[in-house]
Amino acid sequence: MTLRLLLGDQLNAQHSWFARPDDRVTYLMMEMRQETDYVVHHIQKVVAFFAAMRAFAAARQAEGHRFLYLSLDNPENLHTLETNLERVLQGGDFSRFEYQLPDEYRLDQQLAMICEGLEIPSQAVDSEHFLTHRMELAEMFTGKKTYLMETFYRNMRKKHHVMVDAAEAPWGGKWNFDAENRNRYDGAVPVPAPKGPARQVADLVKMIREAGIRTLGTVDESSFVWPVTREESLAMLEEFVHERLPWFGTYQDAMSEAHWALFHARLSFPLNVKLLHPMEVVNRAIEHWESNQEKIGLAQLEGFVRQIVGWREYMRGVYWAKMPSYSQENALNHQRVLPGWFWTGETNMNCLRHSIGQSLEFAYAHHIQRLMVTGNFALLAGIHPDEVDAWYLGIYIDAIEWVEMPNTRGMSQYADGGLVGSKPYVSSANYMDKMSDYCRGCSYDKKKRHGADACPFNSLYWHFYHRHADRLQKNPRIGFAYKTLGSMSATELGLTLGQAEQYLQDIESL
Ligand code: FAD
Ligand code: SF4
Repeated sequence: MTLRLLLGDQLNAQHSWFARPDDRVTYLMMEMRQETDYVVHHIQKVVAFFAAMRAFAAARQAEGHRFLYLSLDNPENLHTLETNLERVLQGGDFSRFEYQLPDEYRLDQQLAMICEGLEIPSQAVDSEHFLTHRMELAEMFTGKKTYLMETFYRNMRKKHHVMVDAAEAPWGGKWNFDAENRNRYDGAVPVPAPKGPARQVADLVKMIREAGIRTLGTVDESSFVWPVTREESLAMLEEFVHERLPWFGTYQDAMSEAHWALFHARLSFPLNVKLLHPMEVVNRAIEHWESNQEKIGLAQLEGFVRQIVGWREYMRGVYWAKMPSYSQENALNHQRVLPGWFWTGETNMNCLRHSIGQSLEFAYAHHIQRLMVTGNFALLAGIHPDEVDAWYLGIYIDAIEWVEMPNTRGMSQYADGGLVGSKPYVSSANYMDKMSDYCRGCSYDKKKRHGADACPFNSLYWHFYHRHADRLQKNPRIGFAYKTLGSMSATELGLTLGQAEQYLQDIESL
């Protein structure tokens, strides 16, 4: 008999393992404290994982596959991979152990160690999900100091024949339509209300609470918003292509107080737990575009495809190229602790109050809120990347380390010194006001650098460039910032830096 382990993010029913039921194979799935407790997770994240795992096991069992499922409250559950595996292997007639390659370094190491100690043969197989193998990006950029996403993306489009013609030229004559995709949301196009599967999750929430698991955020127990089955995930994909794809690119960088998801897909959870395959999502979007070209511009489609074929695979490649040292990177030597209001949303800064508030309510914020609101503030304020990583890893429904860490530590915090982003993603209130309606409802003044009610982003922005001048001022992409800094009068500079220092001292009460 073979024992096959499935982790909570390996819910790929199209995997060759499930081609046909086999009486000589038992699948093992476990809800473990080692996974609920390594960081404080959002309650919706824990619920989503357990609900998706349970539904997956039940569906495969119904197809005839043999499953051993250890729920969180099962008295037999010992809550770590080592202890549970030891007990299960001892209690059955198993002559072989197999698992799918995990996406997280932590689990990869743990499973490799466990297998070294086993007395039966073991084998790791591919998860049959990604478009690239773990080291593909590292091989592509051997010897390079920066990993240019655009180069990677074009190679991926050609390799997988995505939106290219027979001569491998991009559809529409351009690889990238980003310049057309930077609109503020002005209300002209109505935003469809995000529809969720509205599943009851009260029993799961009760079990999680009774087990004493520490969580953050809130959950609507009678109407869960996240898809946890393949059918629910496919329904969300359909909702996306019909209702949101037509405006996806145009408003992908916009932020709005009234709309927590705008035209974003909300597909990162089903993708990351492998309920959906990336190519099936991309192909469905292309197919829909092909039959609706008069209504949907190519820029909308390209903007979406780039996220999945480009950014998602790129981030995975960076992770595997650079782990484990990536988790220690702190190029700017930032040391500050995350202010307490990151966990409550109770701050006077409207942009942060809103972005954190919706993250606590939905376990979700879209990319620009993560990058240019919470990430931007953390970087300007000099928060330690470990603190920032732990927050992102806990709060978002889709946060799994392989994708969370290169986005947070790399792209958003510049902690890798410019491997992922050629310049730090920082901005003053200017950008926030251009891309959102946050500033108009804020008690801070978006125009002021210093003085009563001055927007903290403004002074912190100049403080950031001033304190990191040694490292950053030679970067040609940010020459304009140092030019402005250099032209500031000594008085103006003093007042601005003084204001920033004061805000940093009073960071808890901002
Ligand atoms: P859409 O905007 O509709 O995009 C469609 C899909 O493209 C997403 O579902 C996702 O699979 C993919 N995608 C888009 N951008 C990225 C990206 N930068 N990296 C990888 N995939 C991308 N994404 C995660 O899946 N997990 C994380 O833990 C995570 N942490 C992040 C932390 C920070 C600081 C930042 C700036 C971004 C992070 N992202 C993360 C990327 C991105 O914000 C989310 O993938 C996206 O917001 C998910 O919502 P959506 O499905 O509506 O995405
Ligand atoms: Fe945020 Fe400043 Fe705008 Fe307020 S004024 S919403 S703090 S950027």
